[in-house]
Amino acid sequence: MKYNIAVIPGDGIGPEVIKETLRVLDVAAKDTDIELNYTSYLAGGCAIDEAGLPLPQETIDGTKESDAVLLGAVGGDKWDTLGSDMRPENALLGLRAALGLFANLRPAVLFTQLTQACPLKPELIQNGLDIMVIRELTGGIYFGDKGRDDKSGYDTLRYSDYEIKRIAHVAFKAAMKRGKKVTSVDKANVLESSRVWRKFVEEVAEEYPEVTLNHMYVDNAAMQLVRWPEQFDVIVTGNMFGDILSDEAAMITGSIGMLPSASLGDTTLGMYEPVHGSAPDISGQELANPLATIMSAAMMLRYSLAQDDLATKIESAVDKALSDGARTKDIALPGEKILSTTQMTNAVIANMEK
Ligand code: NAD
Repeated sequence: MKYNIAVIPGDGIGPEVIKETLRVLDVAAKDTDIELNYTSYLAGGCAIDEAGLPLPQETIDGTKESDAVLLGAVGGDKWDTLGSDMRPENALLGLRAALGLFANLRPAVLFTQLTQACPLKPELIQNGLDIMVIRELTGGIYFGDKGRDDKSGYDTLRYSDYEIKRIAHVAFKAAMKRGKKVTSVDKANVLESSRVWRKFVEEVAEEYPEVTLNHMYVDNAAMQLVRWPEQFDVIVTGNMFGDILSDEAAMITGSIGMLPSASLGDTTLGMYEPVHGSAPDISGQELANPLATIMSAAMMLRYSLAQDDLATKIESAVDKALSDGARTKDIALPGEKILSTTQMTNAVIANMEK
């Protein structure tokens, strides 16, 4: 099988973590019938420098024709003073819109080897954590009718059947590959849009009889995430609630250098990127933790290329590297040996080749 991957290294540590991730992908695909072809595209600050705008048409066209998009990070101080149309981050919004990506998947995985990074009590996380937060990305209050006058302002929260059903399908399909449990988060005790959300999530649930569905109010979900996080498998929710809960779930796991993400639409084409930004403070110093991007690539294999075995091979190798004591600076305890970006990747690769 041949797959065309659009690669967008971006700015700051983006190119560093992407370079390492491609090494891991190549080792994963070695001696299989899978061929991964990479084409690099510009987006973000480097695109402003080279092409005069954050998201060149060539990048949009190239990503649309690919099987998946792997992105490093965009942005940096150099472009911070430009007008709002020229912000490097516009490239991300533009790509999501151009590719019709309406679902954001953010796994919050706490490796048992890194429990010291978790702000929760040890007894709450002794078995590690593995939660998938699925956020609706293109609807809800962020995109509803809005306005203001001198004394007031308003934003409208509207969700329609098709928007709810399509994100619910993403959640149930993800649950089928995981713990077969979906928690749908809303505020149905107060919001009409949440009552509609519940109705259509329940309708979709009927198509997935193996998956258990429960509903939770968002205030309770925020509390349960820190009180008893192990109860969650897949959380599905709207744009604003997802924005908040995905950050809360991420913080439970500790380092930003460990968090992957995927954005999906109606087709298998998805965009995969680490949650972190371009980290200008550490770029060019071999200090970046490449694991968030490496695990984003594993998500790409699973969700866009349907190569679950290869995804698991990479994830297991990351897990073993951590068990062997491999630590970049951001996840090391005082006194622990610190690996460079390249050395951390080597540690992952060594475990894949065993
Ligand atoms: P950031 O995520 O880049 O960095 C926050 C802190 O985390 C920094 O101290 C950084 O050194 C550290 N860090 C981040 N990734 C790391 C990694 N892989 N390994 C080790 N340490 C890591 O967030 P920021 O500093 O707020 O933003 C920097 C730039 O990135 C800004 O221009 C911002 O707009 C942009 N940004 C881009 C994205 C994206 O491309 N998706 C996301 C967030 C921020």
